[in-house]
Amino acid sequence: MTRPRDRRRVTRQAPAGLPDAALLGRRPTAAIVGGGIAGLTAATGLAERGVSVTVFEREDHLGGRVGGWPERLPDGTAVTMSRGFHAFFRQYYNLRALLARTDPRLDRLTPLTDYPLMDAHGRIDTFAGLPRTPPWNAVAFAWRSPTFTRKDLLHLSGREALPLATVSVPEIYHRLDRTDAATFLEAINFPPAAKHLAFEVFSRSFFADPRELSAAELATMFHLYFLGSSEGLVFDVPTEPFPQALWDPLASYLTGRRVDLRTGTAVTGLGRTLEGFTLEAGGRTEHFDGVVLACDVAGLREIVAASPEIGTEAWRADIGGLRTAPPFLVRRLWLDRPVEPHRSPFLGTGSIPPLDNISLLDRYEGEARRWAARTGGSVVELHAYAASTDDSSGLEKALESRLHEIYPETRNARVVGDITLWREDCPLFGVGDFARRPTVETPDPALALAGDGIRIDLPVALMERAAATGWTAANSLLGHWGLAGHPIRSVPNHGRIRLLNRLATSMPG
Ligand SMILES: Cc1cc2nc3c(=O)[nH]c(=O)nc-3n(C[C@H](O)[C@H](O)[C@H](O)COP(=O)(O)OP(=O)(O)OC[C@H]3O[C@@H](n4cnc5c(N)ncnc54)[C@H](O)[C@@H]3O)c2cc1C
Repeated sequence: MTRPRDRRRVTRQAPAGLPDAALLGRRPTAAIVGGGIAGLTAATGLAERGVSVTVFEREDHLGGRVGGWPERLPDGTAVTMSRGFHAFFRQYYNLRALLARTDPRLDRLTPLTDYPLMDAHGRIDTFAGLPRTPPWNAVAFAWRSPTFTRKDLLHLSGREALPLATVSVPEIYHRLDRTDAATFLEAINFPPAAKHLAFEVFSRSFFADPRELSAAELATMFHLYFLGSSEGLVFDVPTEPFPQALWDPLASYLTGRRVDLRTGTAVTGLGRTLEGFTLEAGGRTEHFDGVVLACDVAGLREIVAASPEIGTEAWRADIGGLRTAPPFLVRRLWLDRPVEPHRSPFLGTGSIPPLDNISLLDRYEGEARRWAARTGGSVVELHAYAASTDDSSGLEKALESRLHEIYPETRNARVVGDITLWREDCPLFGVGDFARRPTVETPDPALALAGDGIRIDLPVALMERAAATGWTAANSLLGHWGLAGHPIRSVPNHGRIRLLNRLATSMPG
């Protein structure tokens, strides 16, 4: 396993309190709604302090958007399907803390040594072999990039780009949340080719078109992955499908702490009593002392709309205003022949619509590798984010023709099996949304929110935001009951170069 290397990473110490709920005389009961990363993290945080926890998950599997489920290929072969490729970055300290509960050395993650990005002209930028420490990582990236010329570098607007190097949350949102990512990139004067690769690739990985995405969210992400961290941009992936590598072991860990895991059980509403909450699920009403709502945006909106007794009017309106990013498509192909051996396990693409990336599962995931070894084939996955059409079958065809252009050896391959997922359940970080984004703490001290769409004033994103809000939600309920919490970690919540920080604060906002 790779240990965290950034000596400037920060830790919010665990809040003090009693070590175990047994000392309270009666163990508090908590319901966690949603069994994705956020919910499972909150469940872990509470169960480890002896709280009696029940997790309600609508789907038949745990893991949420990083879940996996059984499918069969046309020839009857059992396979595990999922939303596929997920990058587990080294600076995901809170997610790694969760996974380490069942895999202390994180042996079930394996590094991908390169992360090439290709543009429409076939030019490749790569993050492999870069120095890890900012600003040298950025300098080296720009220096060796085929999409930057020295002249381009001189044209960069240092003043406009300064916020990227001086990110602090929430201040960056006060400065940039009213600007969209595309306008911000224009103002910086980035060379168009480099802009597409280094920024659009990131922006679209947030499931949004850069014209829809808050520039503050883009800057925060750039800080987390690049300019604010010295963990590097090279990441890990699970060695087996998500259930086997991540969630089955965590489920055993949680049931060992008396957590009741109820998959296939949707929560339909909450009520408030003097003592706690009533919760409706699967035709039953149950009572809990505390609740964590760790659903995706649509699930959260529905539960709150159906539960008029919880929160305040203003809070409920803010939840109602949360938005979902446009749909995305994941297409997995089981092909009858291999892809050329020199191809990278993961390739990000910029300005090659509608394709955003290609991954070769048999290069890193055990189940796919065994299938490919047995059949002589390959398992290829194509992602298209922020779809601008409703025509999913047209999108499938367009993705496949991109695959054939980029990896011509796949042109004549026979498709042995294929599965397409068309979903719309990622939060949108739209322009100006931050001011009304709900936080982990709610107007009710026994009710907390968690998830990658929930505000937390730390430089985190995506899976790491889900984990950070999950620990924080657990801490919020634990604190309410006088129990000790858990530490929360992040990359530094300020720019790493003091002089630039001083310059940024002296400039008008
Ligand atoms: C294709 C794709 C690629 C991605 N790649 C990356 C990546 O490379 N790196 C990265 O960091 N992130 C990536 N992400 C984002 C990442 O998947 C999410 O940030 C993370 O999984 C969110 O976790 P969560 O717990 O907040 O939400 P979810 O995983 O959505 O969990 C919420 C859960 O709540 C459940 N639920 C909803 N309503 C109810 C109800 N009424 N009752 C009971 N349960 C309910 C849902 O079924 C769901 O399981 C990617 C996402 C996708 C879709």
